[in-house]
Amino acid sequence: MNNKEINIPSLLKIGNGKIAKIGKYLVDRNFTEVALFFSDGIENIVADKLYSGLEKYNIKIVHKDNISDINIENAIHTAFKIPSATKVLLGIGGGKALDYGKYCAHILKLPYITVPTSVSNDGFCSPNTSLLVAGKRKSVKSTIPYGVVADIDVISSAPESSIYSGIGDTISKITALHDWKQSFLKGYEYFNDFAGLMAHNSLDIVYLCNDLKPEDNEFKYRMVNSLVLSGIAMEIAGSSRPASGSEHLISHALDAVCANQKMHGLQVGIATYLCSLLQNNQQDKVKDFLLKTGFFNFVAQDPINKQEFIKALKLAPAIKQNYYTILSEQDSFDKAIKFIETDDILKQVIK
Ligand SMILES: [Zn+2]
Repeated sequence: MNNKEINIPSLLKIGNGKIAKIGKYLVDRNFTEVALFFSDGIENIVADKLYSGLEKYNIKIVHKDNISDINIENAIHTAFKIPSATKVLLGIGGGKALDYGKYCAHILKLPYITVPTSVSNDGFCSPNTSLLVAGKRKSVKSTIPYGVVADIDVISSAPESSIYSGIGDTISKITALHDWKQSFLKGYEYFNDFAGLMAHNSLDIVYLCNDLKPEDNEFKYRMVNSLVLSGIAMEIAGSSRPASGSEHLISHALDAVCANQKMHGLQVGIATYLCSLLQNNQQDKVKDFLLKTGFFNFVAQDPINKQEFIKALKLAPAIKQNYYTILSEQDSFDKAIKFIETDDILKQVIK
């Protein structure tokens, strides 16, 4: 019996016009002093709605930062600069500010609320942060946010690349869960059925809305929903296993070798399709979803460099130690090269 305490967000608001209501959400919870972390360029976009809402409920801003780097040492320094009166930290934006703020809140043991302004990956509700440690991007254990406030109006105005990135991060559950299950069957680790079920269902929230398109508000609502559940699945598992397998290893390796990295979920989506072929696991479902949503068309406009992809593929199995995935199998590399050379879709997105 696993009696581990599991945290889930106490505050969860997804819908239109939610940023204007943050002042009310904070005052209701007695969070009257707040530290704000914005991604570069985001403050201007949300300022009017956010600040008028905070003013209305007399919420004091005791610290404010615009974040453009994710160096762990800077995050630690920032955390200790935050005034002791601070009751809650808020991260507003895309990846970097959300990770940076999450880690500061984790160090200070203060509640943290994320306000994602795009749905490009599942980091806004996960218990991990992606930070630079000694110059390398690492997933660092942190605390799952106390709250998530996702304003669909703001998310809708994000660049279209972000929604395709979110689509890629969502479909990765298929290959991640398969790798985890295989690792369990080989006796390497424990498989948490509930976390597996939740991760699996998180994908279907988006996968099963056949008539929706990525530009529809309802699709974006479902994406937020899906990525929240994916974060909670990781919290239940106590690891990133439900949402991160071979496809994420390839993406991490691409981050290390590419001169021009693409958004996390764009790399992950391409790698998911390749890994589903290697696993011989639901490749038609992966292909169907990535074709139907326009993901492949979008990434084909700016394909991944083939030489760099192959370099990443070589490096990927060693990215995490003692971590079984399909890439641990000896013949996977050669099989992958064959798929890259012959599969009609892969030929379009890896050139
Ligand atoms: Zn991811």
